[in-house]
Amino acid sequence: MTNTDTATETVTDEVVRDPQAHYPENSPQPVAPPPKFDYDLFVIGTGPGGEGAAMQAAKGGMKVGVAERYRQIGGGCTHWGTIPSKALRYAVTSTMKSLKNPVMRELGFSVAPTMEQLNRGTQTIIGRQVSMRQSFYDRNGVPIHRGQCRFLDEHTVTIDHGEPITAAHFVISTGSRPYRPAGVDFTHPRIFDSDTILSMQEKPTSITVYGAGVIGTEYASMFRNLGIKVNLINTREKLLEFLDDEIIDALSYHLRDQGVIIRHNEQMDKIEGRPDGVILHLKSGKVLKTDVFLWANGRQGNTDDLGLENIPVEANSRGQVVVDEHFQTCLPHIYAVGDVIGIPSLASAAYTQGRSAGMHMLGQASGNLRLHDIPTGIYTSPEISSVGATERELTDKCVPYEVGQAQFRSLARAQITGETTGMLKLLFHRETKEILGVHCFGANASEIVHIGQAIMNQPGKQNTIEYFIETTFNYPTMAEAYRVAALNGINRLF
Ligand SMILES: Cc1cc2nc3c(=O)[nH]c(=O)nc-3n(C[C@H](O)[C@H](O)[C@H](O)COP(=O)(O)OP(=O)(O)OC[C@H]3O[C@@H](n4cnc5c(N)ncnc54)[C@H](O)[C@@H]3O)c2cc1C
Repeated sequence: MTNTDTATETVTDEVVRDPQAHYPENSPQPVAPPPKFDYDLFVIGTGPGGEGAAMQAAKGGMKVGVAERYRQIGGGCTHWGTIPSKALRYAVTSTMKSLKNPVMRELGFSVAPTMEQLNRGTQTIIGRQVSMRQSFYDRNGVPIHRGQCRFLDEHTVTIDHGEPITAAHFVISTGSRPYRPAGVDFTHPRIFDSDTILSMQEKPTSITVYGAGVIGTEYASMFRNLGIKVNLINTREKLLEFLDDEIIDALSYHLRDQGVIIRHNEQMDKIEGRPDGVILHLKSGKVLKTDVFLWANGRQGNTDDLGLENIPVEANSRGQVVVDEHFQTCLPHIYAVGDVIGIPSLASAAYTQGRSAGMHMLGQASGNLRLHDIPTGIYTSPEISSVGATERELTDKCVPYEVGQAQFRSLARAQITGETTGMLKLLFHRETKEILGVHCFGANASEIVHIGQAIMNQPGKQNTIEYFIETTFNYPTMAEAYRVAALNGINRLF
């Protein structure tokens, strides 16, 4: 029996959703038995993973309840991750762009915005997100139980040790938090992690960011844009090794060009918080002192205090729950999605995973959700986005591919906006001309990549780089980069 079979059986056995559906019209109606559980599905956590699962299941007719321990819904995504960091980035880039504008300079504008001013708009955006998301739960009749949710047994949870709540299915979507190593004093007012950095009141003159993953690199780039001196300490050999090599080189070049000091292959020895700054001692013997310190090295799944000791589901050493391709844990009726299951640890992926789990419970195939086609969006300056295979992967697999490139500086739109730093790179099969990977850096890269993704996902021969040669693009646009890159690539064929 497959997992799909198991889930379908569980649903029909235990949950009577539409008792009339099994009977022809006008036949005597059976009296529905009292429900065995309080809910068909109980979701723990209201981030994108939980919301995706709850909405999908509720739309499919399940009786759904959710738990949330934070005072507002929306998850880390809305309150201390994606939304506030992107709102701050927008405030920083737009403000600094205006201040650097020659006309503003000529008018005598030379001001330095405070952190408070830059963060001011963020709470409004969060408020809008919360009320919009709350309306989804309200409209779909999904009650929110406020408090810490813990398992009592395989079908029962409690909220803040209150009355037991039972459900046929569960989704664990409790997210993650920064990993905090022992020996680092995170109560020191100059030592932050990615959950606390947004509460920094004063703009520092210098910062050390330890950890050059997506979050560390994004913050390093944002602080440098604010004119702050930045050390970016990478524990690995290259920045963001999962990206295409050329994009990694471009990111490293531009960060260095902007003044970020990047050190690779370093390991922390100890961190010393002082009244006037923070000293980072590296195992290589280097010592760095800056006003503040941001720890951005690793994340931990939120599974402690979830009552996992009462059920057979276990978390690994990083607090993450292991799931199969349907997001089922070792107990088929308990699913886990989002950051709590580890990579890719993206809000975008968490939402799709939640929907997939919801569909699986309903006995529906989630094949149309393209769970393995997750684009990467990295909001550094320049912005980076990619989807599909990298050159490294294609070379390792001996796939005969060719490359087509468009430099943003050759596009009229980029020349008009002044955002000429960037490149679009298409990787395509030499023989079939199917697009295999789309890699982009520069302004709006995270939007631009989706045009290529849409064509790359077309079935059979409809996925072809020739689409971009045959298509008329608005002029001037950044989308035109696709035609330029396609022509550049096709011209390499012989
Ligand atoms: C600084 C930063 C920037 C980011 N930028 C991006 C980005 O640009 N794009 C992107 O796609 N992703 C980004 N991410 C990642 C993204 O925020 C996460 O991948 C996403 O939030 C994961 O969603 P989730 O539903 O798994 O968990 P979360 O959004 O973290 O939600 C989990 C929820 O569960 C609740 N909870 C936990 N335990 C319990 C319990 N026992 N009982 C009740 N409630 C509980 C928590 O309070 C929380 O509300 C960023 C993350 C950070 C930290």
